[in-house]
Amino acid sequence: MMNFSLVSIALLYCCILILCLPGCAGEVNSNNSGIQGENSNSGIDQFEIERQEMVKYQIRDRGVQDKRVLAAISKVPRHQFVEPPWKDFAYSDRPLPIGYQQTISQPYIVAYMSEAAEISTEAKVLEIGTGCGYQAAILGEIAKQVYSIEIIPQLAERARQTLSQLGYENIEVKTGDGYQGWVEHAPYDAIIVTAAPEKIPQPLIDQLATNGKMVIPVGSWYQEIVVLTKTEERIIEEKTIPVRFVPMRRKLLK
Ligand code: SAH
Repeated sequence: MMNFSLVSIALLYCCILILCLPGCAGEVNSNNSGIQGENSNSGIDQFEIERQEMVKYQIRDRGVQDKRVLAAISKVPRHQFVEPPWKDFAYSDRPLPIGYQQTISQPYIVAYMSEAAEISTEAKVLEIGTGCGYQAAILGEIAKQVYSIEIIPQLAERARQTLSQLGYENIEVKTGDGYQGWVEHAPYDAIIVTAAPEKIPQPLIDQLATNGKMVIPVGSWYQEIVVLTKTEERIIEEKTIPVRFVPMRRKLLK
């Protein structure tokens, strides 16, 4: 019994060590400036290094080319959007938990969707599923104005705080059911949806501007990103890559 407990503790300890290794330097070297990962002596920011490697190996090497998307992802401090236990994994090639059983998407998917939406500097963009606000921040870097809707009030509030601390003044977050869109600010030049409905919500199609693009995961167990283009004459839907997003909910959580 005793041996078994000791072995379990030793194994647990090894696991914790291994899990911590990739990004520990950032936390260990952090000073009291509030900027995670910055080493005051050498000026080296471990998170910055990890972010630039993420852009190169996870995003550019997989084919994302849009310079403004790449610049936005190089700039936005993803580690500021996740809770402390996950900060060291902020630049890894995976989704991460953000609380309330929700996740922040894998960085490549954020880049892929932002590129597919073909957003201009003058664009007004709607995002459904604010989550921690990371995708909204990327959109805030490349568009003129971003409106984002989150159905879980606590996540909406936390995202508002993070975005305001980082100085984003062109992003507005509201709590609500994004299925209905945000009709007051429509039409939108682009709509990015980061929770998966089983079919594309008609109100979102209605609120998309002519020549606008919507990028949306569709499906239940099997999902694909659909890129929808609205022209004067018709709606064109192109199925692209398979993905796994949280389902789009229809009820506000309290
Ligand atoms: N874009 C987010 C990732 C979001 S995960 C980010 O960068 O962090 C999907 C989010 O969609 C979750 O926070 C979930 O609560 C939210 N969501 C699910 N259904 C929704 C709906 N009907 N309206 C608005 N938000 C919704």
